[in-house]
Amino acid sequence: MQPVLKSAKLANVCYDIRGPVLARARQMEEDGHRVIKLNIGNLAPFGFEAPEEIVQDVIRNLPDSSGYSDSKGLFAARKAIMHYTQQKHIAGVGIEDIYIGNGASELIVMAMQALLNPGDEVLVPTPDYPLWTAAVTLGSGTPRHYLCDEASDWLPDLADIRSKIVPTTRAIVLINPNNPTGALYPVELLREIIEIARTHDLIIFADEIYDKVLYDGNVHTSIASLADDVLFVTLNGLSKNYRACGFRSGWMVISGEKRHAQDYIEGLNILASMRLCSNVPGQFAIQTALGGYQSINDLVVPTGRLCRQRDLAHQLLTDIPGVTCVKPKAALYLFPRLDPKLYPIADDQQFILELLESERVLLVQGSGFNWPHPDHFRVVFLPHEDDLREAIGRIARFLENYRKR
Ligand code: PLP
Repeated sequence: MQPVLKSAKLANVCYDIRGPVLARARQMEEDGHRVIKLNIGNLAPFGFEAPEEIVQDVIRNLPDSSGYSDSKGLFAARKAIMHYTQQKHIAGVGIEDIYIGNGASELIVMAMQALLNPGDEVLVPTPDYPLWTAAVTLGSGTPRHYLCDEASDWLPDLADIRSKIVPTTRAIVLINPNNPTGALYPVELLREIIEIARTHDLIIFADEIYDKVLYDGNVHTSIASLADDVLFVTLNGLSKNYRACGFRSGWMVISGEKRHAQDYIEGLNILASMRLCSNVPGQFAIQTALGGYQSINDLVVPTGRLCRQRDLAHQLLTDIPGVTCVKPKAALYLFPRLDPKLYPIADDQQFILELLESERVLLVQGSGFNWPHPDHFRVVFLPHEDDLREAIGRIARFLENYRKR
Protein backbone atom coordinates (compact mmCIF):
# COMPACT_ATOMS: atom_id res chain seq x y z
CA MET A 1 0.00 0.00 0.00
CA GLN A 2 1.17 3.53 -0.76
CA PRO A 3 1.90 5.64 2.32
CA VAL A 4 -0.66 8.40 2.68
CA LEU A 5 1.30 11.65 2.56
CA LYS A 6 0.21 15.11 3.58
CA SER A 7 -0.15 17.71 0.87
CA ALA A 8 3.02 19.40 -0.35
CA LYS A 9 1.23 22.66 0.50
CA LEU A 10 1.96 21.90 4.14
CA ALA A 11 5.71 21.40 3.67
CA ASN A 12 6.65 24.69 5.33
CA VAL A 13 3.54 25.28 7.40
CA CYS A 14 4.14 25.01 11.12
CA TYR A 15 2.29 25.88 14.32
CA ASP A 16 4.55 24.87 17.20
CA ILE A 17 2.30 26.25 19.98
CA ARG A 18 0.42 22.99 19.65
CA GLY A 19 3.42 21.07 18.33
CA PRO A 20 5.55 18.09 19.39
CA VAL A 21 6.44 19.40 22.86
CA LEU A 22 2.74 19.66 23.74
CA ALA A 23 2.29 16.06 22.57
CA ARG A 24 5.00 15.01 25.03
CA ALA A 25 3.35 17.02 27.83
CA ARG A 26 0.04 15.25 27.15
CA GLN A 27 1.77 11.91 27.35
CA MET A 28 3.33 12.87 30.68
CA GLU A 29 -0.13 13.82 31.96
CA GLU A 30 -1.54 10.50 30.79
CA ASP A 31 1.26 8.85 32.77
CA GLY A 32 -0.05 10.62 35.88
CA HIS A 33 2.32 13.62 36.13
CA ARG A 34 1.10 17.14 36.81
CA VAL A 35 2.48 19.52 34.19
CA ILE A 36 2.22 23.28 34.78
CA LYS A 37 1.20 24.70 31.44
CA LEU A 38 2.35 28.18 30.54
CA ASN A 39 2.03 27.52 26.84
CA ILE A 40 -1.37 28.56 25.49
CA GLY A 41 -3.37 31.76 25.83
CA ASN A 42 -6.56 29.91 26.67
CA LEU A 43 -8.18 31.80 29.51
CA ALA A 44 -11.07 29.70 30.83
CA PRO A 45 -9.04 26.78 32.27
CA PHE A 46 -7.27 29.29 34.54
CA GLY A 47 -10.49 30.63 36.06
CA PHE A 48 -10.99 33.46 33.58
CA GLU A 49 -14.40 32.40 32.35
CA ALA A 50 -16.56 34.28 29.89
CA PRO A 51 -18.88 36.81 31.57
CA GLU A 52 -22.10 35.21 32.76
CA GLU A 53 -24.34 37.48 30.69
CA ILE A 54 -22.65 36.26 27.50
CA VAL A 55 -23.03 32.62 28.46
CA GLN A 56 -26.68 33.13 29.37
CA ASP A 57 -27.33 34.93 26.12
CA VAL A 58 -25.88 32.08 24.09
CA ILE A 59 -28.01 29.60 26.06
CA ARG A 60 -31.12 31.71 25.50
CA ASN A 61 -30.45 31.88 21.77
CA LEU A 62 -29.56 28.24 21.25
CA PRO A 63 -33.09 27.31 20.12
CA ASP A 64 -32.70 29.88 17.30
CA SER A 65 -29.25 28.64 16.31
CA SER A 66 -30.07 25.53 14.36
CA GLY A 67 -30.08 27.10 10.92
CA TYR A 68 -27.20 28.52 8.86
CA SER A 69 -26.82 32.27 9.10
CA ASP A 70 -25.81 34.66 6.35
CA SER A 71 -22.28 33.71 5.22
CA LYS A 72 -20.85 36.93 6.59
CA GLY A 73 -22.72 36.57 9.86
CA LEU A 74 -25.86 37.51 11.79
CA PHE A 75 -27.07 41.02 11.09
CA ALA A 76 -27.35 42.02 14.77
CA ALA A 77 -23.86 40.78 15.52
CA ARG A 78 -22.41 42.65 12.56
CA LYS A 79 -24.30 45.77 13.59
CA ALA A 80 -22.67 45.52 17.02
CA ILE A 81 -19.25 45.09 15.38
CA MET A 82 -19.99 48.09 13.18
CA HIS A 83 -20.74 50.10 16.27
CA TYR A 84 -17.48 48.92 17.81
CA THR A 85 -15.52 50.08 14.74
CA GLN A 86 -17.18 53.48 15.18
CA GLN A 87 -16.05 53.58 18.81
CA LYS A 88 -12.54 52.89 17.54
CA HIS A 89 -12.89 55.68 14.99
CA ILE A 90 -12.58 53.45 11.94
CA ALA A 91 -14.47 55.40 9.30
CA GLY A 92 -16.83 54.23 6.60
CA VAL A 93 -17.52 50.66 7.74
CA GLY A 94 -20.85 49.22 6.60
CA ILE A 95 -22.48 45.91 7.42
CA GLU A 96 -21.15 44.39 4.18
CA ASP A 97 -17.56 45.18 5.21
CA ILE A 98 -17.80 42.83 8.19
CA TYR A 99 -17.18 39.07 8.15
CA ILE A 100 -17.74 36.88 11.19
CA GLY A 101 -15.68 33.71 11.46
CA ASN A 102 -14.95 30.73 13.66
CA GLY A 103 -12.42 32.78 15.55
CA ALA A 104 -10.07 35.29 13.97
CA SER A 105 -8.02 32.23 12.99
CA GLU A 106 -10.42 31.11 10.28
CA LEU A 107 -10.52 34.62 8.85
CA ILE A 108 -6.73 35.00 8.85
CA VAL A 109 -6.45 31.86 6.73
CA MET A 110 -9.33 32.99 4.53
CA ALA A 111 -7.85 36.47 4.04
CA MET A 112 -4.56 35.00 2.84
CA GLN A 113 -6.19 32.33 0.65
CA ALA A 114 -8.23 35.00 -1.11
CA LEU A 115 -5.25 37.30 -1.72
CA LEU A 116 -2.10 35.45 -2.60
CA ASN A 117 -0.56 33.92 -5.69
CA PRO A 118 2.77 32.06 -5.81
CA GLY A 119 5.56 34.63 -5.63
CA ASP A 120 3.54 37.17 -3.64
CA GLU A 121 5.22 38.30 -0.45
CA VAL A 122 3.68 39.40 2.83
CA LEU A 123 5.60 41.26 5.52
CA VAL A 124 5.06 39.41 8.80
CA PRO A 125 6.66 40.36 12.12
CA THR A 126 9.30 38.33 13.88
CA PRO A 127 8.50 37.27 16.50
CA ASP A 128 4.95 36.66 15.29
CA TYR A 129 1.80 34.85 16.24
CA PRO A 130 2.72 31.89 14.04
CA LEU A 131 -0.65 31.46 12.40
CA TRP A 132 0.19 34.48 10.23
CA THR A 133 3.36 32.94 8.80
CA ALA A 134 1.57 29.62 8.39
CA ALA A 135 -1.45 31.21 6.68
CA VAL A 136 0.73 33.10 4.19
CA THR A 137 2.61 29.92 3.37
CA LEU A 138 -0.55 27.82 3.07
CA GLY A 139 -1.97 30.54 0.84
CA SER A 140 1.00 29.92 -1.52
CA GLY A 141 2.63 33.24 -0.64
CA THR A 142 6.03 33.90 0.90
CA PRO A 143 6.26 35.34 4.41
CA ARG A 144 9.03 37.94 4.67
CA HIS A 145 9.82 38.56 8.32
CA TYR A 146 10.48 42.09 9.53
CA LEU A 147 12.14 42.68 12.84
CA CYS A 148 10.41 43.80 15.98
CA ASP A 149 13.27 45.21 17.99
CA GLU A 150 13.68 44.11 21.58
CA ALA A 151 16.00 47.06 22.25
CA SER A 152 13.09 49.38 21.35
CA ASP A 153 10.44 47.68 23.45
CA TRP A 154 9.77 45.25 20.61
CA LEU A 155 8.49 47.94 18.24
CA PRO A 156 8.63 47.21 14.50
CA ASP A 157 11.90 48.33 12.90
CA LEU A 158 10.81 50.63 10.09
CA ALA A 159 14.17 50.51 8.28
CA ASP A 160 13.98 46.73 8.27
CA ILE A 161 10.43 46.86 6.91
CA ARG A 162 11.48 49.23 4.12
CA SER A 163 14.49 47.08 3.22
CA LYS A 164 12.30 44.00 2.77
CA ILE A 165 9.80 45.46 0.33
CA VAL A 166 10.04 44.10 -3.22
CA PRO A 167 7.74 44.61 -6.22
CA THR A 168 5.75 41.49 -5.30
CA THR A 169 5.11 42.57 -1.68
CA ARG A 170 1.33 42.69 -1.27
CA ALA A 171 0.71 43.38 2.38
CA ILE A 172 2.06 44.00 5.85
CA VAL A 173 0.79 42.26 8.97
CA LEU A 174 0.70 44.17 12.24
CA ILE A 175 -0.06 42.37 15.50
CA ASN A 176 -0.95 45.15 17.91
CA PRO A 177 -1.14 44.54 20.86
CA ASN A 178 1.44 41.92 20.18
CA ASN A 179 1.60 38.23 20.88
CA PRO A 180 4.20 37.10 22.00
CA THR A 181 5.93 40.32 23.14
CA GLY A 182 3.10 42.30 24.78
CA ALA A 183 4.15 45.41 22.85
CA LEU A 184 1.68 48.19 22.14
CA TYR A 185 2.39 50.47 19.20
CA PRO A 186 2.37 54.27 19.53
CA VAL A 187 0.31 56.34 17.10
CA GLU A 188 3.38 57.92 15.47
CA LEU A 189 4.73 54.51 14.56
CA LEU A 190 1.35 53.48 13.15
CA ARG A 191 1.35 56.61 10.99
CA GLU A 192 4.80 55.75 9.64
CA ILE A 193 3.65 52.25 8.77
CA ILE A 194 0.68 53.72 6.93
CA GLU A 195 3.06 55.94 5.00
CA ILE A 196 5.10 52.90 3.97
CA ALA A 197 1.92 51.09 2.91
CA ARG A 198 0.76 54.15 0.97
CA THR A 199 4.08 54.48 -0.87
CA HIS A 200 4.30 50.81 -1.80
CA ASP A 201 0.62 50.08 -2.26
CA LEU A 202 0.43 47.51 0.53
CA ILE A 203 -2.65 46.21 2.32
CA ILE A 204 -2.44 46.51 6.10
CA PHE A 205 -3.67 43.47 8.02
CA ALA A 206 -4.14 44.54 11.64
CA ASP A 207 -4.58 41.76 14.19
CA GLU A 208 -6.04 43.58 17.20
CA ILE A 209 -7.42 40.63 19.15
CA TYR A 210 -5.90 41.92 22.43
CA ASP A 211 -7.09 45.51 22.03
CA LYS A 212 -8.79 45.58 25.45
CA VAL A 213 -6.13 43.65 27.37
CA LEU A 214 -4.12 46.75 28.26
CA TYR A 215 -2.16 47.46 31.46
CA ASP A 216 -0.89 50.63 33.14
CA GLY A 217 -3.68 52.82 31.72
CA ASN A 218 -2.47 52.28 28.15
CA VAL A 219 -4.81 53.09 25.28
CA HIS A 220 -5.03 51.21 21.98
CA THR A 221 -5.36 52.94 18.62
CA SER A 222 -6.66 50.98 15.65
CA ILE A 223 -4.34 51.67 12.74
CA ALA A 224 -7.38 51.70 10.45
CA SER A 225 -8.62 54.81 12.25
CA LEU A 226 -5.64 56.82 11.01
CA ALA A 227 -6.20 56.89 7.24
CA ASP A 228 -8.77 56.23 4.56
CA ASP A 229 -6.53 55.99 1.48
CA VAL A 230 -4.97 52.60 2.34
CA LEU A 231 -6.79 49.26 2.43
CA PHE A 232 -7.11 47.91 5.97
CA VAL A 233 -8.26 44.50 7.12
CA THR A 234 -8.74 44.58 10.89
CA LEU A 235 -9.21 41.37 12.89
CA ASN A 236 -10.67 41.01 16.33
CA GLY A 237 -12.93 38.70 18.32
CA LEU A 238 -14.28 37.49 21.63
CA SER A 239 -11.53 35.02 22.49
CA LYS A 240 -9.30 37.23 24.61
CA ASN A 241 -11.16 40.44 25.48
CA TYR A 242 -14.19 38.42 26.61
CA ARG A 243 -12.46 35.20 27.71
CA ALA A 244 -14.48 33.20 25.18
CA CYS A 245 -11.83 31.32 23.15
CA GLY A 246 -14.06 28.26 22.90
CA PHE A 247 -16.99 30.13 21.40
CA ARG A 248 -14.90 30.52 18.22
CA SER A 249 -16.21 33.95 17.56
CA GLY A 250 -14.07 36.41 15.63
CA TRP A 251 -14.47 39.04 12.95
CA MET A 252 -12.74 40.86 10.14
CA VAL A 253 -13.48 44.41 9.02
CA ILE A 254 -12.54 45.87 5.62
CA SER A 255 -12.00 49.62 5.63
CA GLY A 256 -10.13 52.45 3.95
CA GLU A 257 -9.46 52.30 0.21
CA LYS A 258 -12.04 49.63 -0.66
CA ARG A 259 -12.89 50.81 -4.20
CA HIS A 260 -9.75 49.29 -5.72
CA ALA A 261 -10.21 46.07 -3.80
CA GLN A 262 -13.52 44.89 -5.25
CA ASP A 263 -11.98 41.81 -6.83
CA TYR A 264 -10.27 40.79 -3.59
CA ILE A 265 -13.51 41.40 -1.71
CA GLU A 266 -15.30 39.16 -4.21
CA GLY A 267 -12.68 36.48 -3.40
CA LEU A 268 -13.38 36.87 0.30
CA ASN A 269 -17.11 36.56 -0.37
CA ILE A 270 -16.57 33.35 -2.33
CA LEU A 271 -14.57 31.82 0.50
CA ALA A 272 -17.03 33.01 3.15
CA SER A 273 -19.87 31.44 1.15
CA MET A 274 -18.02 28.16 0.63
CA ARG A 275 -17.84 27.53 4.35
CA LEU A 276 -21.54 28.52 4.58
CA CYS A 277 -21.28 30.45 7.85
CA SER A 278 -19.54 30.71 11.17
CA ASN A 279 -21.01 28.73 14.12
CA VAL A 280 -24.21 30.50 15.00
CA PRO A 281 -24.25 30.13 18.83
CA GLY A 282 -20.86 31.85 18.93
CA GLN A 283 -22.23 34.69 16.82
CA PHE A 284 -25.06 35.22 19.27
CA ALA A 285 -22.48 36.09 21.93
CA ILE A 286 -21.13 39.09 20.02
CA GLN A 287 -23.88 41.65 20.54
CA THR A 288 -24.12 41.02 24.27
CA ALA A 289 -20.35 41.05 24.68
CA LEU A 290 -19.69 44.27 22.82
CA GLY A 291 -22.68 46.08 24.33
CA GLY A 292 -22.32 44.73 27.85
CA TYR A 293 -20.20 45.47 30.88
CA GLN A 294 -16.52 45.40 29.85
CA SER A 295 -15.37 43.21 32.71
CA ILE A 296 -11.86 42.78 31.25
CA ASN A 297 -11.19 46.21 32.74
CA ASP A 298 -11.51 44.77 36.25
CA LEU A 299 -8.75 42.28 35.46
CA VAL A 300 -6.19 44.67 33.97
CA VAL A 301 -6.25 47.46 36.58
CA PRO A 302 -3.27 47.35 39.00
CA THR A 303 -5.26 45.35 41.56
CA GLY A 304 -6.77 43.07 38.90
CA ARG A 305 -5.74 39.45 38.62
CA LEU A 306 -4.16 39.67 35.17
CA CYS A 307 -2.10 42.73 36.03
CA ARG A 308 -0.88 41.25 39.30
CA GLN A 309 0.12 38.04 37.57
CA ARG A 310 1.96 39.96 34.87
CA ASP A 311 3.91 41.89 37.50
CA LEU A 312 4.73 38.79 39.51
CA ALA A 313 5.80 36.70 36.52
CA HIS A 314 7.93 39.53 35.16
CA GLN A 315 9.61 40.09 38.53
CA LEU A 316 10.33 36.43 39.17
CA LEU A 317 11.68 35.79 35.67
CA THR A 318 13.96 38.82 35.61
CA ASP A 319 15.32 37.87 39.05
CA ILE A 320 16.93 34.82 37.39
CA PRO A 321 20.55 35.48 36.39
CA GLY A 322 20.91 36.11 32.65
CA VAL A 323 17.17 36.52 32.04
CA THR A 324 15.89 39.87 30.77
CA CYS A 325 12.40 40.72 29.64
CA VAL A 326 10.66 43.79 28.25
CA LYS A 327 7.63 44.29 30.49
CA PRO A 328 4.47 43.74 28.45
CA LYS A 329 2.11 46.68 28.09
CA ALA A 330 -0.72 44.45 26.90
CA ALA A 331 -1.91 40.88 26.15
CA LEU A 332 -1.16 37.72 28.14
CA TYR A 333 2.48 36.89 27.49
CA LEU A 334 6.09 37.50 28.43
CA PHE A 335 8.87 36.86 25.92
CA PRO A 336 12.07 36.70 27.99
CA ARG A 337 15.58 36.56 26.62
CA LEU A 338 18.26 34.18 27.86
CA ASP A 339 21.76 35.61 27.75
CA PRO A 340 23.56 33.30 25.29
CA LYS A 341 26.79 33.59 27.29
CA LEU A 342 25.14 31.93 30.29
CA TYR A 343 22.79 29.74 28.27
CA PRO A 344 24.49 28.62 25.04
CA ILE A 345 21.39 26.97 23.56
CA ALA A 346 21.74 25.38 20.15
CA ASP A 347 18.18 24.13 19.65
CA ASP A 348 15.47 25.94 21.58
CA GLN A 349 12.83 23.24 21.04
CA GLN A 350 15.19 20.72 22.60
CA PHE A 351 15.79 23.17 25.46
CA ILE A 352 12.05 23.49 26.12
CA LEU A 353 11.65 19.73 25.92
CA GLU A 354 14.42 19.22 28.49
CA LEU A 355 12.72 21.74 30.78
CA LEU A 356 9.48 19.81 30.42
CA GLU A 357 11.13 16.46 31.10
CA SER A 358 13.03 17.61 34.17
CA GLU A 359 10.68 20.21 35.72
CA ARG A 360 7.25 19.47 34.22
CA VAL A 361 6.74 23.04 33.09
CA LEU A 362 5.51 23.61 29.56
CA LEU A 363 6.58 26.70 27.60
CA VAL A 364 6.88 27.49 23.90
CA GLN A 365 10.30 28.13 22.39
CA GLY A 366 11.00 31.42 20.59
CA SER A 367 11.45 29.68 17.24
CA GLY A 368 7.78 28.69 17.54
CA PHE A 369 7.11 32.39 16.91
CA ASN A 370 9.50 32.48 13.96
CA TRP A 371 12.15 34.15 16.10
CA PRO A 372 15.45 33.37 14.37
CA HIS A 373 17.70 32.91 17.44
CA PRO A 374 17.54 30.13 20.06
CA ASP A 375 17.47 32.57 22.97
CA HIS A 376 13.83 33.32 23.81
CA PHE A 377 10.77 31.54 25.10
CA ARG A 378 7.19 32.58 25.74
CA VAL A 379 5.50 32.46 29.12
CA VAL A 380 1.72 32.71 29.46
CA PHE A 381 0.94 34.45 32.75
CA LEU A 382 -2.61 33.10 33.13
CA PRO A 383 -2.08 30.66 36.03
CA HIS A 384 -2.79 31.78 39.59
CA GLU A 385 0.04 33.43 41.50
CA ASP A 386 0.89 30.24 43.43
CA ASP A 387 1.22 28.26 40.22
CA LEU A 388 3.28 31.01 38.61
CA ARG A 389 5.61 31.02 41.64
CA GLU A 390 5.91 27.26 41.47
CA ALA A 391 6.47 27.18 37.70
CA ILE A 392 8.99 30.01 37.56
CA GLY A 393 10.78 28.53 40.59
CA ARG A 394 11.16 25.33 38.61
CA ILE A 395 12.37 27.27 35.54
CA ALA A 396 14.93 29.03 37.77
CA ARG A 397 16.15 25.69 39.11
CA PHE A 398 16.46 24.28 35.59
CA LEU A 399 18.41 27.33 34.45
CA GLU A 400 20.70 27.14 37.46
CA ASN A 401 21.58 23.57 36.53
CA TYR A 402 21.97 24.62 32.90
CA ARG A 403 24.55 27.24 33.91
CA LYS A 404 26.56 24.59 35.76
CA ARG A 405 26.80 22.28 32.75
N1 PLP B 1 -4.32 36.51 16.69
C1 PLP B 1 -3.50 36.49 17.75
C2 PLP B 1 -2.41 37.51 17.86
C3 PLP B 1 -3.65 35.50 18.73
O1 PLP B 1 -2.82 35.48 19.78
C4 PLP B 1 -4.67 34.54 18.59
C5 PLP B 1 -4.83 33.47 19.59
O2 PLP B 1 -4.05 33.26 20.47
C6 PLP B 1 -5.50 34.63 17.48
C7 PLP B 1 -5.30 35.62 16.55
C8 PLP B 1 -6.61 33.63 17.26
O3 PLP B 1 -7.76 34.06 17.83
P1 PLP B 1 -9.17 33.29 17.70
O4 PLP B 1 -9.38 32.54 18.97
O5 PLP B 1 -10.17 34.39 17.50
O6 PLP B 1 -9.08 32.38 16.53
